[in-house]
Amino acid sequence: MRCGTDKYRFYPSPGQAEELSRTFGCVRLVYNKALEARTRAYEEGRRVSYGQSSAALTAWKRTAELGFLNEVSCVPLQQALRHLQAAFENFFARRARRPVFKSRKKSRASAEYTRSAFRWREGRLTLAKMDGPLDIVWSRPLPEGAEPSMITVSRDAAGRWYVSIRVEEKIEPLPAIEAMVGVDMGITALVTFSTGEKILNPQYERADRRKLARAQRALARKIKGSGNRAKARSVVARIHARMSDRRRDHLHKITTRLVRENQVIAVEDLTVRHMVKNRNLARAISDASWRELRSMLAYKTTWYGRELLVVDRWFPSSKLCSECGARAASMPLSVREWVCVCGASLDRDVNAAENILAAGLAERRNACGAGVGP
Ligand SMILES: [Zn+2]
Repeated sequence: MRCGTDKYRFYPSPGQAEELSRTFGCVRLVYNKALEARTRAYEEGRRVSYGQSSAALTAWKRTAELGFLNEVSCVPLQQALRHLQAAFENFFARRARRPVFKSRKKSRASAEYTRSAFRWREGRLTLAKMDGPLDIVWSRPLPEGAEPSMITVSRDAAGRWYVSIRVEEKIEPLPAIEAMVGVDMGITALVTFSTGEKILNPQYERADRRKLARAQRALARKIKGSGNRAKARSVVARIHARMSDRRRDHLHKITTRLVRENQVIAVEDLTVRHMVKNRNLARAISDASWRELRSMLAYKTTWYGRELLVVDRWFPSSKLCSECGARAASMPLSVREWVCVCGASLDRDVNAAENILAAGLAERRNACGAGVGP
């Protein structure tokens, strides 16, 4: 079981932005009014309970002057009172200073939603009083089976919107196993494992790429500032989004399988050796895939109690013979198979994957220090 909070950027619709801004304003107002009442009570030698603050909020909502508080979700308002309660408890216990008023300019605008005030369905998050889900940039996906328990929405000084999601994951580390694998990221095959298996780029990617290139050419022909150009741009964006969704899906399947089947996974650090200056679309996509694959492996190995070994990027994984360790003088990309001086006949990518695994294990032994182990 892991408990954590992840923060993501999101882009509200104009309606959502308006609703959230109004909520932020109400949260600040309720906090400040309750603080005022508590401060007065404190100076008169009385203490105010959360229940009393909450009853006061109900009373405010009934007045003509503050009736607008009913228009926003009540949960963030209640949460503001809970925070104030905690702040006073800390103050009374001498752990903190006396709470201060929230200012429109200086305080971070935020609102907190507990479980009853949002809906989480199939990876879509909809807040109370909103008609549609938030458009969240999932820079790092929530793990399978993760259930958000608290949502905090905020807007920073630059007007950027963020959503913090607290999750309680029911992820159990997988039982430890013996298997280890080296992974080579390549161009002809997307990835090659030291076991000899190769996973190619998905079939549809070539077609998608052609479609994207066509849409980009069409966009380039449109007159700047024209309505047609805006339309063409949204076509490009849609194709892009669909491509990355499909690619991510493919990578999730590969990485989940790797993590399930292996205790130790060795990869190269982001492979500069492949990154040439003259980048075409296919190359840009494989670079993006590798980056994503690496980051997926990093967090999935952590979740499931596996180990990720990252080999130095200058390691000549393609040039070394995995049988005898002899180093070939040069290894142009066109060479897919070669025979070493020791007589071993080697598949370029499988050989590289085997070397990556061996180098990862050697680096780990060194890092653990001499004298440890048999
Ligand atoms: Zn050899």
